[in-house]
Amino acid sequence: MKNNRKSSVAKVIRPAVRQATAALPVVPAKSRRLVFGGKWDYAPAPESSSHIAILPRHDLFIDGRFVAPRSGKYFASVNPATEQKLTEIAQAGAADVDRAVRAVQEKSRELAILESMDGGKPIKESRDFDLPMVAAHFFYYAGWADKLNYALPNRRPQSLGVAGQIIPWNFPLLMAAWKIAPALACGNTVVLKPAETTSLTALRLAQILQEAELPPGVVNIVTGAGETGAALVNHPGVDKIAFTGSTEVGKQIAAATAGTRKRLTLELGGKAANIVFEDAPIDQAIEGVINGIYFNQGHVCCAGSRLLVQESIYGTVIRKLRDRLQTLRVGDPLDKNTDIGAINSRNQLDKIRELVHCGVEEGATLEQSACRLPAKGYWYPPSFLTGVTLSHRVAQEEIFGPVLSVMTFRTPQEAVERANNTPYGLSAGVWTDKGSKIFHMVNQLKAGVVWANTYNKFDPTSPFGGYKESGFGREGGLHGLLPYLQPD
Ligand code: ADP
Repeated sequence: MKNNRKSSVAKVIRPAVRQATAALPVVPAKSRRLVFGGKWDYAPAPESSSHIAILPRHDLFIDGRFVAPRSGKYFASVNPATEQKLTEIAQAGAADVDRAVRAVQEKSRELAILESMDGGKPIKESRDFDLPMVAAHFFYYAGWADKLNYALPNRRPQSLGVAGQIIPWNFPLLMAAWKIAPALACGNTVVLKPAETTSLTALRLAQILQEAELPPGVVNIVTGAGETGAALVNHPGVDKIAFTGSTEVGKQIAAATAGTRKRLTLELGGKAANIVFEDAPIDQAIEGVINGIYFNQGHVCCAGSRLLVQESIYGTVIRKLRDRLQTLRVGDPLDKNTDIGAINSRNQLDKIRELVHCGVEEGATLEQSACRLPAKGYWYPPSFLTGVTLSHRVAQEEIFGPVLSVMTFRTPQEAVERANNTPYGLSAGVWTDKGSKIFHMVNQLKAGVVWANTYNKFDPTSPFGGYKESGFGREGGLHGLLPYLQPD
């Protein structure tokens, strides 16, 4: 009975196995063997390596090129399965590592030097402020590029098309980064016009974009003066204009784009109040005031160009300011110890001189650093004007140079009224020990940015822009994406 069952099972299994075997891929009988335990073994199936060419020697890849190591040394790369030597690889020594690291830093260093040569700003500012901020802006907006649906949930944001961007000469490369990075992150293409006195770093950036293989046409740079800018503004193929510059030109652009489909953002002038209360940490406040007005020779739209000092500490503040002024080093922008570099152009120097002259004519007192100015080039000593009243031109107009207009106030309310007494509204500073006073002031000041117990602090994640005649639209942060997107 038992044997019978065994033979009938075998009868069923045998044809089944035959069928299954027939269904197997045909493998030459030689290479398919049923080995002990009933498992299949495989014949060697080597990937062909005959078409892989390995050079006998490999150099270092530095700054986009293969170069022999300065160490002169190479080591063998061995196939671990055969112990065969595949090739020789360059052994980078300390000098080679240094060369490679420099090649990475070179662009930043080169751009910083170029920026100081072209624009006149001190190297320690272009090196430690402009360039790191440029990189931070590109890095920050690159992060948004594939997350726009999170930036504007449920709104299916679309790019606008061609963004025409016009930038000034005070932060040439940084302004280019502020404009280009969000535009590209939102999928637009760009036609950028740098300022006529500072085109070099934007053009160098173009070469870097080329090296990075940005597709042709995505970023275009047209150089020239106001006429070139106007041609860009008026071009019918442009979908958006982003402008940073003077209020005067901003108004012309607003008029030119009115009634067209073009989107517009304007970042214009400023006449910021830096307000120092009697309870402020005075020495810290003096540093903030110095930084607020003399940073970048005062060629800063958000410069703290009006100092409002509470009357009770006026004498102390002026004395400290006077002392500090004498310590500022004015001179060669490429000297790492220079605090204040050259005025950007003859034209700008004339404007500064004219306004200061007018301030003195109107009754203000001029105090200047006793520094010696270089014989050649455009220079203006760090200065401040006391006895300024609200009606003086130096209290109302943007000097855009290293000149501070000093006024006093008695109460917080008076400080607010004086600070807001300007057609501009870009920035302000508040110096006080009292947090509640900071909140009170921040809520009353009509300024896009208010710094408290600090000044000129920037971050790519933080929006920047103005009220009133300082313009509209924001650059930086999530807000900075909106002008480059067309929400659903
Ligand atoms: P600033 O007075 O500080 O030099 P501008 O507003 O004149 O500032 O210049 C800022 C940028 O605007 C520069 O790139 C400049 O060439 C450009 N520009 C000047 N005039 C015009 C214009 N009419 N239309 C468009 N762009 C202009």
